[in-house]
Amino acid sequence: MGFEYAPALESRSVVDLKSSYGLFIDGEFVDASGPSFKSVSPATEEVLAEIGQADVADVDRAVQAARRAYTRTWSVMSGAERAKYLYRIARIIQERSRELAVLEALDNGKPIREARDVDVPLVAAYFFYYAGWADKLEYAGFGATPRPLGVAAQIIPWNFPLLMLAWKIAPALAAGNTVVLKPAETTSLTALLFAEICQQADLPPGVVNIVTGAGSTGQALVAHPDIDKLAFTGSTEVGKAIARSVAASNTPVTLELGGKAANIVFDDAPIDQAVEGIVNGIFFNQGHVCCAGSRLLVQESVYDDVLARLKRRMATLRMGDPLDKNTDVGAINSSEQLARIHELTAVGESEGAERWSPPCDLPERGFWFAPTIFTGVSQAHRIAREEIFGPVLSVLTFRTPAEAVEKANNTPFGLSAGVWTDKGSRILWMANQLRAGVVWANTFNRFDPTSPFGGYKESGYGREGGRHGLEAYLAH
Ligand code: NAD
Repeated sequence: MGFEYAPALESRSVVDLKSSYGLFIDGEFVDASGPSFKSVSPATEEVLAEIGQADVADVDRAVQAARRAYTRTWSVMSGAERAKYLYRIARIIQERSRELAVLEALDNGKPIREARDVDVPLVAAYFFYYAGWADKLEYAGFGATPRPLGVAAQIIPWNFPLLMLAWKIAPALAAGNTVVLKPAETTSLTALLFAEICQQADLPPGVVNIVTGAGSTGQALVAHPDIDKLAFTGSTEVGKAIARSVAASNTPVTLELGGKAANIVFDDAPIDQAVEGIVNGIFFNQGHVCCAGSRLLVQESVYDDVLARLKRRMATLRMGDPLDKNTDVGAINSSEQLARIHELTAVGESEGAERWSPPCDLPERGFWFAPTIFTGVSQAHRIAREEIFGPVLSVLTFRTPAEAVEKANNTPFGLSAGVWTDKGSRILWMANQLRAGVVWANTFNRFDPTSPFGGYKESGYGREGGRHGLEAYLAH
């Protein structure tokens, strides 16, 4: 069953793309020393802009600017004054929300519907939320006189470029720290637009510095001797390398890493609602979600029904131009990520799982992968153990709640989980048993600034969001 819709394209004209971008250091845009690299639209492979690559000397300049701003301005300013800047930034984000959403969809490949309705509103909400804490830190539960740590080095991934920036910068600034942030190399553009917003808000120079570049720029930031706090969101592999490299220092570290969440459907669940939750759990943001519900656990008695309805629903997903307001599933962020998804799905087939995708035409240019499910998956299969970070769902079954818990926890990760059932008592029991930082009940992929987020085991340590998120940026 399919409906044909006329395209409903969001206009690009609201975005003022420059042909090249420098680094944002000490309140100004400056040229990078390293060679520039291209940021492409994943949907069309069109070059959007040239981005500067920060080298060790550039990173040092950014850290020095952050140190000066910390010592002279930001740490001596009252919390109420800091809050005014954060509120101002939050309001400008709202005012420029359309521009931010269009640029995020262009640069990342995510559907405009998601950038507009999820990412950008949440970004503003995190700034509003932490602005509210800036003058109340002594009531946050971390002692009577909590102090900022100093200069925070922050490294973020490409899946939610602006939202991850907000999760990092808003609590750090509210607590009185200054920051040097490195966006991911494929998605620097909205971080650079955020830098313009800092200028527009008259944020004192050096409080926020943005250094663009790839892994080597990140390494230079991690290795800088004048960093007081390190916050990293990204892959478990790089997170482990960072933890090793700072192990000999006393620098506090927050690591938000990968996941392989179980989305568990019991036979008393409202099935249509659960199917929406399964789709949202794994196809939202093309499955480029650390807490994606990538392992579906279905109770055996409703397996056939759930699978039939899931396939029917998947056949209605619209894939294509991220700027089309009808689009449900956008482009894969990079050719490297697409190659990784192809590799792991090929392994899934060779290990004996059965693959299914709805009929769908993939655009000729750009990086695309059809929504895919694997059935007949065993717990030992690589597609059940490794993070694919794409629109690929592994389906497993269980008979009893105890078996569901055992299978859900049988993973090196522990970031999130979902439970679909009619029984409140079962939800509470499951939430206690599941070794995951977030457990959603009869919903999935819901985020709120007041709620802490973070993992167990190889999903990392530390929490972001909520009152807990302040602790990572306070000495007490
Ligand atoms: P990645 O680890 O390759 O890169 C993340 C960032 O680290 C990028 O900015 C990258 O340039 C930088 N980097 C790469 N090598 C580095 C090094 N040696 N030293 C310092 N910095 C380095 O991850 P990715 O592919 O960009 O992002 C996907 C991963 O992020 C997934 O595993 C996903 O689960 C995870 N993620 C986790 C959360 C969370 O909150 N737990 C949120 C979003 C994404």
